[in-house]
Amino acid sequence: MRNPWGELTGVKPVKLTRELFKGNPYNGRKPHEKPEVFRILTEEKGLSVEKARLLIEIYEYQQRVLEGERYTSCGLYIGIPFCPTRCLYCSFTSNQKPYEEVERYLQALIKEIEFTGKRAKDTGLDVETIYIGGGTPTTLDEGQLERLLDAILHNFDLCKLREFTLEAGRPDTITAGKLETASAHGVDRISINPQSMKDRTLELIGRSHKPSDILKAFETADKSGIPVVNCDLIAGLPEEDADDFRKTLETIISLRPANITVHTLALKRASRLIEQDSNYHETHSDVVSEMIELSHEILRSEGYLPYYLYRLKRMAGALENTGWCKPGTAGIYNIRIMDEQQSILALGAGGMSKVFFPQENRLERVPNVNNYEVYIDRLQEMFDRKEQGIFQMMPEIYKQTEALKRR
Ligand code: SF4
Repeated sequence: MRNPWGELTGVKPVKLTRELFKGNPYNGRKPHEKPEVFRILTEEKGLSVEKARLLIEIYEYQQRVLEGERYTSCGLYIGIPFCPTRCLYCSFTSNQKPYEEVERYLQALIKEIEFTGKRAKDTGLDVETIYIGGGTPTTLDEGQLERLLDAILHNFDLCKLREFTLEAGRPDTITAGKLETASAHGVDRISINPQSMKDRTLELIGRSHKPSDILKAFETADKSGIPVVNCDLIAGLPEEDADDFRKTLETIISLRPANITVHTLALKRASRLIEQDSNYHETHSDVVSEMIELSHEILRSEGYLPYYLYRLKRMAGALENTGWCKPGTAGIYNIRIMDEQQSILALGAGGMSKVFFPQENRLERVPNVNNYEVYIDRLQEMFDRKEQGIFQMMPEIYKQTEALKRR
């Protein structure tokens, strides 16, 4: 089967589309009108007509959503690297640990929040979006979640905040108390990630919840009043056919989430599934293509719009992940992170902060260590890395922002 993405190997094709429209003096790209962008994507890059149209549609939608100062504001990412069990396809930092360990981590994380919040205020770095991810942040119990949210609210200046997301990924970790606490602290987006609504699949991939838990989680979310719920689904899970995927999608749509993200199963070397079947992503490519086509057809007919897209290596069918939203509910953090024109402050084990130098169109990475125990032990070093790599760079970033405005 012909690869619909042609020769494009990059993981951020919408960013490339933006550069084709707007130009990029740093790599010699000139700005183009829409017909020429379409021609470059299809003729030079070899994309199918459908994928080229999809990229242009997403780019145009993003232009309508993004506003405000992106260079002197940031996205704030806070990582909770714990989950109740480990999924079969997982290659993230996910630890299964007792309460005492989670507590030890939380105490260190709150110290990092205090340090970073103070330095962000001192240097005038505004927070535009917050994303608490993982792992599964709702592995924290109600009291711990409240302390985490209190720490964020007390230490950062949030007067320019546009959105606040909490990944409540695993339905078996969601309680009414946690979502009420989240809502009371200003969280306006959560993610409930069913992946599939088929019992057997959930068992196979090592999730400890049932489809009925997902329905309950939706009821709880409804009552909490949090306005935007995102649902992550995966196309290409073991033993699933297109009909299973259709049933999952239709059930999820009937629950009326504002956002649905359709992932194509990506298998990294660290996942258990790739150890069991090293050719999985190739043997499943046809069925996954069928599922992705179905998702476009059904989601469009239900009023969802594609608003962000990215690709990973070793994805089944060499396809893509697409975020869909009801009009007016696009996730700004998701768009910014793929667009790579804004700094990110990433806190916690595995956090990868990025500093964007606008005049040079360059991102510099400032990593925290991955292992949560090492993170706790070397916390001061994480502060020092942020101080040197981010906060001491702020005068230069302001200078470059001003220089760009004067152009
Ligand atoms: S919920 Fe996500 S981070 Fe946790 S084990 Fe599953 S795939 Fe990994």
